Amino acid sequence: MSQTVAVYGCNAYEKDKVRAALEQAIGEIGGLGAYMEPGRTVLIKVNLILGKKAERHATTHPVFVQALGEILRDFGMDVVLGDSPGGPFNQTALKYIYRATGMEEIAKESGFRLNENTGTIEVDHTNGKLMKKLTMTAMLKDVDYVVSACKLKTHSMMTFTGAAKNMFGTIPGTVKADYHVRMPEEETFANALLDICMAAHPVLSFMDAIVGMEGNGPTAGVPRAIGAVLASPDPCALDLVACGMIGLKPQQVPMLRLAIERGMLDPQEVVCKGDDPAGFLVPDFRMPDHLEHDLLRVKLPKWLADPISKMARAKVQFDPKRCVGCGVCAANCPPKALTMIRDQATGKARPSVDHKKCIRCFCCQELCPQEAVRVHESIIFKIANKL
Ligand code: SF4
Ligand code: SF4
Repeated sequence: MSQTVAVYGCNAYEKDKVRAALEQAIGEIGGLGAYMEPGRTVLIKVNLILGKKAERHATTHPVFVQALGEILRDFGMDVVLGDSPGGPFNQTALKYIYRATGMEEIAKESGFRLNENTGTIEVDHTNGKLMKKLTMTAMLKDVDYVVSACKLKTHSMMTFTGAAKNMFGTIPGTVKADYHVRMPEEETFANALLDICMAAHPVLSFMDAIVGMEGNGPTAGVPRAIGAVLASPDPCALDLVACGMIGLKPQQVPMLRLAIERGMLDPQEVVCKGDDPAGFLVPDFRMPDHLEHDLLRVKLPKWLADPISKMARAKVQFDPKRCVGCGVCAANCPPKALTMIRDQATGKARPSVDHKKCIRCFCCQELCPQEAVRVHESIIFKIANKL
């Protein structure tokens, strides 16, 4: 697979501007005809986490999706938009999410279809490192090609989420929780995500980095302008270039570190075309609050960083002022480490965490509609980080 990544500047969600930048990027990687045949069906795997509104920049922006979808449509493709965000994967949830994220409107305007298939399929994946069999969304079998249309964001568990991590949304919502429990450690989970990306097999990946999310991504962070769109046939190569634009080294990003170790990505082979990615560098792009201990891995040898990281494990906490007691976090906590307990004084239900069971997946932070979940750093980390 070619490790060419095209980067083009685009500083506004105006359809004509986004389309022009995407068309230039597609031209640089060989044109659509190099990857797909007209007259077939293509799934644009968007990132629709939590059904957040476009202006929060937690989801792939609808103008970006519309511009990309129209390019594919005009090439002769039957365009389907789809995702399986965390939580239940059913018709009611999908309808709400498509409407809230602006997908329903652009699909109507531009003649795209919205995936309504909430079935599952069992997929043999003999080339997977950890995942030799996968339960995936049946929307994959309804289409001829998949393209990843992701958002550049920080991620509390994986440091960064881009084109490769976006493919986790081809796993049905509730099965995701099962995979988290089966692979609670950062490294095993990152390896599983790489296996899932391989199995979903996006023929092309596109990134909305016009405005990304910094801080406590992927949902509770803050929008940050970057001003670019990226395209590549290789999702890991695209992520490598995007990470460089926000000052992250591959060693700091588990999926990239492991992709290199597994021979899926060779940074020396990655060729950038179009605009110089250095021109979009945001050197002070803010990482999730608790991630700095993972940066110890860059500063310290593994034998010292590993035990310090274990001792310095962050803990989730719940902001009583923001929490409305909806129970979404407890319902979606993969190892059932959260229990809703009624507060005697106020009579309101509040989540309580069993830290021994918590696997630090941060699904509670990702799915909390009130952004009420905080991550508390230990004093050991604060000392260790000064080393
Ligand atoms: S999801 Fe958020 S608002 Fe709902 S109970 Fe959990 S912490 Fe509170
Ligand atoms: S409490 Fe939160 S971070 Fe801990 S396992 Fe549950 S969802 Fe994951």
